[in-house]
Amino acid sequence: MNKHMQAIADKISHGVRLDKRDGLFLYNEADLLDIGQLAREVKMNKTGQHVFFNVNCHINLTNICVSRCKFCAFGVDEEGTGGPYCMTAQEAFDYGSNEVGGGITEFHIVSALHPKMPFEHYVGIVESLHKAYPDIHIQAFTAVEIVYFAQISGLSVEQVLRELQAAGMGSMPGGGAEILNDEIRRDLCPKKANSEEWLEVHRIAHQLGILTNCTMLYGHIETIEDRIDHMLKLRELQDEAPGFQSFIPLPFLPDNTKLSHISRTGAVDDLKTIAISRLMLDNIDHIKAFWIMQGIPIAQVALHFGADDMDGTIVEERIMHAAGAQTSKGIGKQQMINLIRETGYLPTERDTVYNILRTY
Ligand code: SF4
Repeated sequence: MNKHMQAIADKISHGVRLDKRDGLFLYNEADLLDIGQLAREVKMNKTGQHVFFNVNCHINLTNICVSRCKFCAFGVDEEGTGGPYCMTAQEAFDYGSNEVGGGITEFHIVSALHPKMPFEHYVGIVESLHKAYPDIHIQAFTAVEIVYFAQISGLSVEQVLRELQAAGMGSMPGGGAEILNDEIRRDLCPKKANSEEWLEVHRIAHQLGILTNCTMLYGHIETIEDRIDHMLKLRELQDEAPGFQSFIPLPFLPDNTKLSHISRTGAVDDLKTIAISRLMLDNIDHIKAFWIMQGIPIAQVALHFGADDMDGTIVEERIMHAAGAQTSKGIGKQQMINLIRETGYLPTERDTVYNILRTY
């Protein structure tokens, strides 16, 4: 093992935090298997043999979007091609209700930024699902959507969050972080929340007791330094206002986007990113191998590179599939259990906030 790698291993074993230089070294110079081994050790210390999953149902309310980010294949114009749709409140309720019999424990609601639907529309959907199914956790709306709701309603971010919380929103997903660098955001997604706004929503959510996740979209125009800076910003916020449950690295899927000339990242980059995030983000308990975007084979291997969560069964995912995700749109619970078992870990069904429901 080279000297710097040994120093990093020593830091990890003594609980000393890695710094930016360490992160850059891990990406640029370290051996993949050395990084993986360290990350796996950290995972084993945190969650042992458990690999988590939940049984959930994604509800993507609309794909009509005012933002039209360059990396997105999901958002479309109201009048244009690409199959614009917008569920009515009743359709959203029926869509969720149809899945309740399948044993789901979470409704996962994420959408585009619709030009006309008012904030009350979204509050109403959360409220109706929560009233009908109070035991099913509602994880809903990225920080980008929350900032947009504040803009269209004239409310503050805190008021938006409080209203949604009162309606039954239990926690928030981590999407919309992309890369927390405003130069990159101005190029890729100039119309949506900037870095500080994204962080501020999560800061306020955590202060209100709303747990959240966080993501990083990588493999487009960002540099390795941008990725490490991104992780450090998340780590800093977690120190200041804890509430991130998991970090989810998302490889950029170029198909049908304005960046389709960029190639999809390879397995080495995907595994390094999982492992390095496990090592850098010492204050975030869970690292997800999001099978929908990573693909099932890489997600399985990622469990040996520091990831401890395979996310959910999902039922029907639309956002990543618009960008060419080759995975199926949902998988059955038994299939999820088999996939985890095959890796040698203990399939552990959790609820949204990581209470263990059952092991298999
Ligand atoms: S990433 Fe979100 S905000 Fe951007 S275009 Fe797609 S749906 Fe709209």
